[in-house]
Amino acid sequence: MGGTFDPIHHGHLVAASEVAAVFGLDEVVFVPTGQPWQKADTRVTSAEHRYLMTVIATASNPDFTVSRVDIDRPGPTFTIDTLRDLKAARPEAELFFITGADAMAQILSWKNVDELWTLAHFIGVTRPGHELDGGGHDVSLLEVPAMAISSTDCRRRVESGNPVWYLVPDGVVQYIAKYGLYARTDAPAAQGA
Ligand code: ATP
Ligand code: MG
Repeated sequence: MGGTFDPIHHGHLVAASEVAAVFGLDEVVFVPTGQPWQKADTRVTSAEHRYLMTVIATASNPDFTVSRVDIDRPGPTFTIDTLRDLKAARPEAELFFITGADAMAQILSWKNVDELWTLAHFIGVTRPGHELDGGGHDVSLLEVPAMAISSTDCRRRVESGNPVWYLVPDGVVQYIAKYGLYARTDAPAAQGA
């Protein structure tokens, strides 16, 4: 499952759990993006913070893991590279690429889209207020239980001093507070981040 995860929230986790159940997946690998080309003009939290929040959020689930392929690769993240790297690491695995409606639409607009189909099945998940159109491609569509949570809303809440308890996992609430992420004022950065 690809995403910016800035921060990871319960919408992502419910979506992953639902897709895993419906498609009978053995494992869900969360892949935080490096520098997301779709968000090149917006400020994104350091990859190391986003990676660590994703690890914290998924730690208790034995079927959830986190991959560093996108954050360790220099330059903007393209799904084709993500899939090539995952395939190289797990040549025997049948890959399913899970992402949301908005991101899927952008990936499908990519000019070399045909190459993607040889590497993975594509599963697009929807959330309230987002229409999903497969654009005539062979994309599986799945509606996940209604969860009107977004990372944007979580960031705004922290910035304005409102709670994010129960929108993100407890450990992520504490991680955000510990490093002062999304706060208006300057706060200490993570070691090495
Ligand atoms: P932002 O608000 O910063 O865009 P986001 O909440 O959309 O963040 P991303 O990291 O961009 O989070 O999400 C990765 C993928 O998960 C996206 O393709 C997104 O559509 C999907 N997604 C996010 N929130 C939900 C949700 N509540 N239910 C289902 N899918 C979701
Ligand atoms: Mg988004």
